[in-house]
Amino acid sequence: MYTHHSLLLTPGPTPIPQRIQAAMNLPMVGHRSPDFEHIAEEAFRSLKSIFGSQHDVMILTSSGTSALEASMLNIVNPDDHIVVIVSGAFGNRFKQIAETYYQHVHVLQVEWGKALDVNEVISTIEALDVPITAVFTQYCETSTAVLHPVAELGHALKALDDQIYFVVDGVSCIGAVDVNLERDAIDVLVSGSQKALMLPPGIAFVAYNDRALARFKAVTTPRFYLDLAKHHASLEAHSTPYTPNVSTFRGVVEYGHMVEEEGFEHVIQRHYLIRDAVRAALQRLDLDLLVEDAYASPTVTAFIPKDEAELKHIKNTLKSQFNITIAGGQGKLKGHILRVGHMGFISPFDLLPFVAALEVILTQYRQQSYIGTGTKAFLEVVHHEL
Ligand SMILES: *Cc1c(COP(=O)(O)O)cnc(C)c1O
Repeated sequence: MYTHHSLLLTPGPTPIPQRIQAAMNLPMVGHRSPDFEHIAEEAFRSLKSIFGSQHDVMILTSSGTSALEASMLNIVNPDDHIVVIVSGAFGNRFKQIAETYYQHVHVLQVEWGKALDVNEVISTIEALDVPITAVFTQYCETSTAVLHPVAELGHALKALDDQIYFVVDGVSCIGAVDVNLERDAIDVLVSGSQKALMLPPGIAFVAYNDRALARFKAVTTPRFYLDLAKHHASLEAHSTPYTPNVSTFRGVVEYGHMVEEEGFEHVIQRHYLIRDAVRAALQRLDLDLLVEDAYASPTVTAFIPKDEAELKHIKNTLKSQFNITIAGGQGKLKGHILRVGHMGFISPFDLLPFVAALEVILTQYRQQSYIGTGTKAFLEVVHHEL
């Protein structure tokens, strides 16, 4: 047996570039010092273009879920009615947060693996016949690998009622998609560090428009660490209300440099190219895709082995024989799908060992030769761009 380099292909955490790692290893500085203020100022600012925000992006020292929670507590008052779209495990998380704090939570279920239907969301809200303060959805529902049409929904919501706040969880796609708060009618857009932003886990991001910022200052729902009005006041002073993860802030600054060098448009194109190549390869290997082309996420792909035994064999052998880590399904998709992440610090070639390993595994397991088939399909998609 050979020793293989480890290849982390989960939809978070993701591989971290050496440059970011090195920046994070610089000597510690005091967080109440001009040294840190320079770091914070650049970190807040460098995320604006990634989030498509006119304002500096807030950074919380806590995981992505804290930003989901903050986006609710700072927009929704105790007696408000809200709509939570649940299209997978992370939609369920939004629902759980909502039900922890609020009485009037209207849940709109979307079949797992399908994209939300904008007309259906709108007619459901109309049928509720109560004023809805906010609508919450994932952008990429990581558990199903669906990228929802959030811009379309944003505009439809504002056309229905321009007072509705539209809150989007972009934890698993921001950094890999073309998004713009104003253009896409999004009021609050949150994310986390360990997915397409190729940073370690542990910090979270909140982008917002003017209207959302005013609301952060006005809501009465109790909150302390996650009071975004407080975080914003600190941000304006190039600081944070409590001790930040200084090292990861440095990582954000280096991330900004790397994106600037590659060009953000190219970063996005690279993710879509890898997505298309991975999907072509999986299909050639007789592995069905969970999500239709139109809504396939550029950051993660879900595929369906023939049965649960084959699924387990693929996942375990990738790890034990090839040192490649992918993810299983979550919730009701556990035992039904596998998910391969391809976001952040990833080039098309990084997926070739995964595809080649699948060829070997399936050739042995199914007693049918797949050698050269998946990699061929993969390279047929990417070779024009290399
Ligand atoms: C990973 C993820 C989260 C949760 O982030 P944590 O950092 O684990 O708290 C939330 N939403 C989506 C869509 C995710 O992919």
